[in-house]
Amino acid sequence: MHSAKYLQKERSIEQGKCPHCGNELILRSGKFGRFWGCKAYPVCKFTRTM
Ligand SMILES: [Zn+2]
Repeated sequence: MHSAKYLQKERSIEQGKCPHCGNELILRSGKFGRFWGCKAYPVCKFTRTM
């Protein structure tokens, strides 16, 4: 089920912002391909696969 909170989170990601701390998300590439990672890493460990 999609709650309002879930949608808000999706919107943050679309705008390139971390839904956890509000920092920018930056595109990183790793072993498993490209993913969005929080700029505040390693303080904030939010990541999202594309
Ligand atoms: Zn963050």
